[in-house]
Amino acid sequence: MNQQYTHYEIDKDKCVGCQLCAQNCPVNVISGEPSKTHVIDQSGCIKCGVCFDVCPHDAVKRS
Ligand code: SF4
Ligand code: SF4
Repeated sequence: MNQQYTHYEIDKDKCVGCQLCAQNCPVNVISGEPSKTHVIDQSGCIKCGVCFDVCPHDAVKRS
């Protein structure tokens, strides 16, 4: 079963600002200062799921 996710969002209560997602996003749409909550620019996100896969803190929510 292959569900198509259409929305990726970072949970500000879980994100520790490790920057892994930003470093791995293929289209560079995740921004944030080190150790601070990161944010996804929804207009540029191509829903590839990399941020979800690399986040060590389970802070990326998808739906
Ligand atoms: S990988 Fe997870 S914890 Fe790290 S900055 Fe991204 S969302 Fe936050
Ligand atoms: S789903 Fe892909 S394109 Fe969208 S923010 Fe995450 S890594 Fe970047």
